[in-house]
Amino acid sequence: MKIHEYQAKELFRKYNIPVPEGSVAFTPDEAAASAEKLGGYPVVVKAQIHAGGRGKGGGVKLAKSVDEVKKVASEIIGMTLVTRQTGPEGRLVGKVLVEQMVKIKREFYLSIVPDRATAKIVIMASQAGGMDIEEVAEETPEKIIKVFVDPLAGIQAYHCRELSFGLNLTSASGKKLITMVKNLYRLFIDYDCSLVEINPLGVTEDFAVIAFDAKVDIDSNAIYKHKDIQEYRDFGEEDPLELEASKFNLNYINLDGNIGNVVNGAGLAMATMDIIKQAGAEPANFLDVGGGATSEMVENAFRIILMDKKVKGILVNIFGGILRCDVFAQGVVQAAEKTDIDIPVVVRMEGTNVEEGRKILADSGLKLETAIDLKDAAKKIATLAA
Ligand code: ADP
Repeated sequence: MKIHEYQAKELFRKYNIPVPEGSVAFTPDEAAASAEKLGGYPVVVKAQIHAGGRGKGGGVKLAKSVDEVKKVASEIIGMTLVTRQTGPEGRLVGKVLVEQMVKIKREFYLSIVPDRATAKIVIMASQAGGMDIEEVAEETPEKIIKVFVDPLAGIQAYHCRELSFGLNLTSASGKKLITMVKNLYRLFIDYDCSLVEINPLGVTEDFAVIAFDAKVDIDSNAIYKHKDIQEYRDFGEEDPLELEASKFNLNYINLDGNIGNVVNGAGLAMATMDIIKQAGAEPANFLDVGGGATSEMVENAFRIILMDKKVKGILVNIFGGILRCDVFAQGVVQAAEKTDIDIPVVVRMEGTNVEEGRKILADSGLKLETAIDLKDAAKKIATLAA
């Protein structure tokens, strides 16, 4: 789960990680009030969306007076911000962080992520701060320092020294960086994070080390443990279809293609997506209705896929085990009664009660194509949708 920069900075404060002073505002007047509390200008007004690259997109602005704060905030709040990470459709900005402007002397990059290959936690740092780290990694990977921490042993002094020396810091800021890295690591573990990133990490004239940006992603499977994080969830930032699907316990991820698919079981769903691609088409979603799905869940799965206007055809791939084929077919019929299915649907169904299931579909009067096997099904839907 992603959280906003202002929320991540709240967590940073709890862990004594220095951040510029500031607070969130939902209106230009609130932004002005936030700025006045800071006791001096200029201030920085930053769009709060779940995506980076805001500076280049016009979502981070300097304001030198209270009137300018109001003006800048009214431009940013309500704008559709397009950045490298939002895609061309952009994101509607609903709030800004109003923050003290602090002079930065040098900018660095610092992050912590789990590394699957080594089963360790990797801390990455670079002198190439404030830039797109993906670009640095591609063009000048030697500029990224990586230290690997064994999660059972925890972070050690030598890990921190390696980072501080690697960044060529003076002893005064080096010590501050070490304290910061230790605190950041603690936060990472305590909150079951999948990413903690500071870009830029700034060093000021007087050697202070400050997090100018803060990105914290938390493993969604661990959210139940963290009541404070649950309150950070911003439904406005989530994909509306995925949000709808989560209400019905459907494992649904919206993708870019035009073939919707309804499948039971995550492995089968992955394989189905592969086969759709092999047939020359692109999946519009990942959807696992689950082993113990009810006909209501199936109905909702269809309804959600049909809400997606880019979907030009649906491939149904059900292997009835715990989910019986007749229960599934009932769900399809219910969905058709409530929503017009006006696009081609190809069904491949096998397993428990398959005959009953086929009969329910055949008697329903619905225009469904059946397929003999999965390959045939994928070929048929790719042709029909094209
Ligand atoms: P994004 O990565 O989404 O563009 P950042 O938080 O990195 O957003 O902000 C963009 C740039 O604005 C930073 O690289 C930094 O140079 C500058 N900046 C951000 N916050 C402050 C601040 N409080 N004081 C001074 N400069 C800032």
